[in-house]
Amino acid sequence: MTDIEQLRKTLLRDTRGGYDRMDRAEIPAMETYCREYIRFISEAKTEREAVKWTVAAAEAAGYRPFTPGMALNPGDKVYHNNRGKSVFFAHIGKKPLGEGVRICAAHIDSPRLDLKPNPLYEDGEMALLKTHYYGGIKKYQWTTVPLALHGVVIRADGSRAEVCIGENPEDPVLYVTDLLIHLAADQMKKPLSEGVTAEQLNLLVGSRPVAGEGADRVKLGVLRILHEQLGITEEDFRSAELCVVPAGPARYVGFDRSMILGYGHDDRVCAYACFVPMLEQDTPEFTSVCLLADKEEIGSVGVSGMKSQAFETFMEDLCQAQGENVRRCFERAFCLSADVTNAFDPDYADTCDKRNSAVLGGGVGVCKYTGARGKSGASDASAEAMGFLRGVLARGEVLWQSATLGKVDQGGGGTVAGYMANRNIVTVDAGVPVLSMHAPLEVVSTLDAYMMKKAAAAVYRDSAPLD
Ligand code: MN
Ligand code: MN
Repeated sequence: MTDIEQLRKTLLRDTRGGYDRMDRAEIPAMETYCREYIRFISEAKTEREAVKWTVAAAEAAGYRPFTPGMALNPGDKVYHNNRGKSVFFAHIGKKPLGEGVRICAAHIDSPRLDLKPNPLYEDGEMALLKTHYYGGIKKYQWTTVPLALHGVVIRADGSRAEVCIGENPEDPVLYVTDLLIHLAADQMKKPLSEGVTAEQLNLLVGSRPVAGEGADRVKLGVLRILHEQLGITEEDFRSAELCVVPAGPARYVGFDRSMILGYGHDDRVCAYACFVPMLEQDTPEFTSVCLLADKEEIGSVGVSGMKSQAFETFMEDLCQAQGENVRRCFERAFCLSADVTNAFDPDYADTCDKRNSAVLGGGVGVCKYTGARGKSGASDASAEAMGFLRGVLARGEVLWQSATLGKVDQGGGGTVAGYMANRNIVTVDAGVPVLSMHAPLEVVSTLDAYMMKKAAAAVYRDSAPLD
């Protein structure tokens, strides 16, 4: 090796792409994992469905609901289903809980349209449902795409109707119209943020009136079908959570099938990655805790969001089972806040600092900080925390890259990291780079999705002390 080659090798960081840095013998394992992931995001499109899916898989792998007072021994697998909307899994380690735990936290809610409390009306011989968007969306993207309705209706007597319409190929789908280009002269002059307004995001759900006289016969026809199929009336919409999401399964993108197109990679690509190792691993040194949270997209508020005391209650109960103090446990814990990041898009290159942006297929994007402007609202991980995670990822043979969310002053965002760090838990953000984040259909790389699973597995498995 010449001097300059030696210098490059010694001093420069490795900037090769993920495929050139990975052991290609891992590709079959990567492909198997991604096939299973595609099944997961096709079947679990809301937080409720993700809780149901993961709880069923966990129970099949030996997890049991935790009840306060239960004895906890190394190797025990327990979970707490928080009202069907968020879920905590714990795999008890060999060390006592007071020595800390290893947490991977991700969210299972994604941007979508929710139905309003009084959604159904008739206009122009059509029946429509009014929606209220959930999370940050570009409204125009939700027009003219096939949509499905997922959720639950609670009737006045407390009984419930589970709803999933639009996923079976035989099912009808729902649809938000857009103005024909021929008459769009005024609309096309508006800024993108105003071209389609929130109150125009109304779902087309019927056009056949019931026979007879009088007004609202199309609406009545729709209600008759809903009553026959779900046993609900118009009033029941008031105690319902009905979510409108893109219809149909996730699928591969690209001639080489190296990417996945799907609804809600943010953040189920990380949630699945955090969950799967909990099923596969042997008894860890430190207790592994996997958190799948709701409401991240609207600020982590409410009983099922990551700001909720539900997490403290669960951890306190676990610690009590071993006679340990939860505050000591948090103080010595490490949390990987697993949430997606932006992948560099050459079509919008000027929104990113190319030297600090994650690229598709470059491995897990590790964000030292998120936030906006002068790191406002950021959970800025310390050098020590970053150093600890580097060691974990190196020992786990995880490909990773640095990630920042766009150019400084271009915008910004946040994750659950700050809420974990506020609990006195050392926390670092890391996640899968995504193209078209928050669009109805997003794209991730199979390599990055797989590396995220390896990252979570490494965090759980690694036995190095944090201090
Ligand atoms: Mn997210
Ligand atoms: Mn998001």
